[in-house]
Amino acid sequence: MQPASKHRRRLLGAALAAPVVQGLSAPAFAQPVAGRVRPGEPGWPTAAEWAALRSAVGGRLTALRSPFNACRDGVDPACARLFDETLRNPYAIGDDPALTQTLGWVDAWTLQPSAYAVEARTDEDVVAAVNFARERRLRLVVKGGGHSYQGTSSAPDSLLVWTRRMNHTVLHDAFVPAGCDGRIAPQRAVTVGAGAIWSQAYDAVTTQGGGYVQGGGCLTVGVAGLVQSGGFGSFSKAFGLASANLLEARVITADGEARTVNACTEPELFWALKGGGGGSFGIVTRLTLRVHPLPEPFGAVNMTVKARSPEAFRRLVGRMVDFCATALINPSWGEQIRLRPDNTLRVSMVFQGIGRGEAQGVWQPFIDAVAAAPQDFWFESAPFIVSTSARDFWAPTLVKKTLGFIKSDARPDAPKSNVFWPGDEGQAGQVMHAYDSAWLPAALLQPGRRAALADALFAASRQASLSLHFNKGLAGGPSEVVAAARDTAVNPAVLDAFALVILATTGRPAYPGVAGREPDAALARRQRDAIGRATAELRKLGLEPGAYLSESNYFEPDWQRAFWGTNYPRLLATKRRYDPDGLFVVHHGVDSESWSADGFTRRA
Ligand SMILES: Cc1cc2nc3c(=O)[nH]c(=O)nc-3n(C[C@H](O)[C@H](O)[C@H](O)COP(=O)(O)OP(=O)(O)OC[C@H]3O[C@@H](n4cnc5c(N)ncnc54)[C@H](O)[C@@H]3O)c2cc1C
Repeated sequence: MQPASKHRRRLLGAALAAPVVQGLSAPAFAQPVAGRVRPGEPGWPTAAEWAALRSAVGGRLTALRSPFNACRDGVDPACARLFDETLRNPYAIGDDPALTQTLGWVDAWTLQPSAYAVEARTDEDVVAAVNFARERRLRLVVKGGGHSYQGTSSAPDSLLVWTRRMNHTVLHDAFVPAGCDGRIAPQRAVTVGAGAIWSQAYDAVTTQGGGYVQGGGCLTVGVAGLVQSGGFGSFSKAFGLASANLLEARVITADGEARTVNACTEPELFWALKGGGGGSFGIVTRLTLRVHPLPEPFGAVNMTVKARSPEAFRRLVGRMVDFCATALINPSWGEQIRLRPDNTLRVSMVFQGIGRGEAQGVWQPFIDAVAAAPQDFWFESAPFIVSTSARDFWAPTLVKKTLGFIKSDARPDAPKSNVFWPGDEGQAGQVMHAYDSAWLPAALLQPGRRAALADALFAASRQASLSLHFNKGLAGGPSEVVAAARDTAVNPAVLDAFALVILATTGRPAYPGVAGREPDAALARRQRDAIGRATAELRKLGLEPGAYLSESNYFEPDWQRAFWGTNYPRLLATKRRYDPDGLFVVHHGVDSESWSADGFTRRA
C-alpha cells in the first residue's frame, strides 16, 4: 500500500480538526486548566452530552463497571470465572476495557476502570473523544495492550480511549514517509493500527510476510505502548529499539488535530514518540515500522546450573561474567541469564543468524567449565540448544503447541494466532510487589573491572533474584543500530549498556477487598526491601540513575533522569508545545510533575 495522497490527507486533516462534537455547545476555558472534573462534580457532562458523544463515535461509548464488583458479596460464579479463567488468559484480559494485564502494585496503584470508554475504530472517534475530554475538562486515558506495569492506562473517573479494535496491519514494499520524498529512500515497512499487539504484527510480518519487525518479547504487549516507551524484543541487540524503527505515526494531539508525524513533517513530536513514553503526547492511531529481511534461523539455549555453596556460586558468577564479555555481547544473542539467592544460575538465551552448531560451539567452553568442577557445580537442567526456521518462530504450529513451547487463547472463538509464551502466562492478572532496573555499562566488562562486577552481582543475588537482559542494552550491536537509538528520546545510557538488569517480584491475581484473594501486602513490602538492598549492592559499581521506563520502579525518585537522562528538557519543551494544558497525564510521564499524583489537579 502506498501512503495516502497529500490531497486526501489535507481533506481528512481538515475534517478531523473540527473542534466539537456536533450538537453540543462546549464551554470555553480561557484560563489554563487547573483541574479535571469527577463524576458528580459541577461540569461533569450531562446524560445528553454523553449521548451526543455516543452518537459521534458510532454508538461505541460504554459506561464501565469493575468486573470485581461480582466479588463484593462473597462467592459469585462470575467472580470465580474472573479469577479462574479470564485473569489467566492475557487475551481475555485485553478484550475487556475494564481490565489491565497488571491489576495493581502494592502501595502504588490499584486497577479501577474509567467512568466511560470509547471503543475507537477510526481517527474520527479519537478526535471526538479528545475534543470532548478537553472541552469538558475530563481526565483522559488511553489503553492499547494494557500491559503498563505503572498503571498508566488506568485512571478512575476518567474517559478511556480504548484502541484494541484498531488492529489492522498493512505491508508496504516501498514506503516513504509523507513529505520525505527524496530524503528517505523507499523501504519495506508495515503499518499497524495502534491497538494491535505484537502477536498480530508478527503474524502479518513474519509468519505471513516472511519479514522481520522489531517488537517486544511478550506477544500480548501493545505495539503503540511498547514503541513509545523505547521497546525491546529478544533480538534487539541486532535490530535495535522498536522506537528507532518507527518511520511514521498518525497522532491525535490535545488540540484535536490529526497529524501525520515523521522525521520530515513534525520532527520534534516524532522524536518524542520514539521513547518519550505512551500517554503523554497525544493518541497514536497507527504506526509504520521498518521491516527488515528475516534472518535464518532463530534458536534458544537453556540450562540451569546450581552451585554447591555461596563461595562456589561466586566463582560461577565470575565465570559467567568472563564468558559474557567474550562471547555474548554481539548481535547474535539476546534474552536472559538469571541469578537466584539459592545459588542457581539459569540461562534462557536466544540467538539469531547463526546455526545450532555454531551456537553450541559458542557455549561449549562455559558448559565444559561447569562440567569440569563437579565439586562446585552441577546442571540441574542439562544444556538444551534448539533452532528453528525464523519464519516459524512466532507461528502457532502444532509441534510447538504439543511440546508446550507456545500457549493458545483457550476461548472457543479465539483466532488461532492468539498465542503467548508460557513464560509470560504468570504475568496475566499479576499484582506487582517490587521492581527495579538499571543499565549496566559495557565498561564493567573490561578485564580490570570484571571482578568488581561479579562481586556486585553476587552480593545482589544474596538479597534477591536478578536477571541480566542482554537484549535490552545495545553495546555490541551494529553501529547503525546504535546510531538510530541515539536519535530517540530513550536515556542514552542504553547505547553503551551491555544489559539491563531487572529485579522483580509479583503476586498472583488478587484484588483489595475480595475475601481470600487480597494482595499479600506484607510479603510485597519485605520483597521491596530486599530488592532495595540488592539494588544498593549494584549501585556500588558507581551506576548513574538509568532505568528502562517501561520496566522500572514505580517509586523511582529521580525518574526524569533515570528514564530520559539528558533528553528530558527537550521532551518537556515538546510536551508543552503540543499539550500545554496537560490533557495527557500519566504517572512519571513527561511533565507529570506539574500534576497531582491522580492527574486531577495542577500543582501550584
Ligand atoms: C507481560 C509483560 C511483558 C512485557 N515485555 C516487554 C518486552 O518484551 N519488551 C519491552 O520493551 N517491554 C515489555 N513490557 C513492557 C511494555 O512494553 C510496556 O508496559 C508498554 O508500554 C505496554 O504497552 P501496552 O500498549 O501493552 O500497554 P498500555 O497499558 O495500553 O499502554 C502503555 C502506555 O502507553 C500508552 N498508550 C497505549 N496506547 C497508546 C496510544 N495509542 N497512543 C498514545 N499512548 C498510548 C498508555 O496510555 C500507557 O501510558 C512488558 C510488560 C508486560 C506486562
